[in-house]
Amino acid sequence: MKPSSLQELYVEQLRDLYDAENQIIKALPDMIEAASSPELKEALNEHLEVTKTQASRLEQIFSKLGEKPKGDKCKGMQGVLQEGSDLVEDIDDTNVRDAAIIASAQRVEHYEMAGYGTARTFATLLGEDDASTLLEQTLDEEKEADDKLTELAEDINVEAQSGKDVRGDKSRTGSRRKIA
Ligand code: FE
Ligand code: ZN
Ligand code: FE
Repeated sequence: MKPSSLQELYVEQLRDLYDAENQIIKALPDMIEAASSPELKEALNEHLEVTKTQASRLEQIFSKLGEKPKGDKCKGMQGVLQEGSDLVEDIDDTNVRDAAIIASAQRVEHYEMAGYGTARTFATLLGEDDASTLLEQTLDEEKEADDKLTELAEDINVEAQSGKDVRGDKSRTGSRRKIA
């Protein structure tokens, strides 16, 4: 569908976000599995639960609009997630891998923040006040997730730099470990 009004563009953006959230729900378990830091695992787990709520908020907005949430694949999120999993599965050092997971996850959060900021603004312009509030709530959660990752990176990046390994395995030349 080619949007020919701001209303149609708004619905297109919501469908894109809905597909992106569902891709994230599928991708997060592998990232959690690949993470070594218990704090990082916990933060990602928590965001997985939050992400399910975000998807259901979008369903709520669609049902009020009388529209179906189904839409095209979010190719942008597909690329961001693919790049992240390709990178992470190539890294043997657990601290460096954790730093890479954070780097990838922050790209995901920022991509979402861009989409939700736009959708929230469209909703406000179109007088969709309830939707605007819901989208803003999600936007705030994405920002919180990003802040949490920044906080975790403060320790994890330093550990990655100093070569400390939480498993006591200093070998960086071992065979590649597949994550999926
Ligand atoms: Fe999200
Ligand atoms: Zn997209
Ligand atoms: Fe998110």
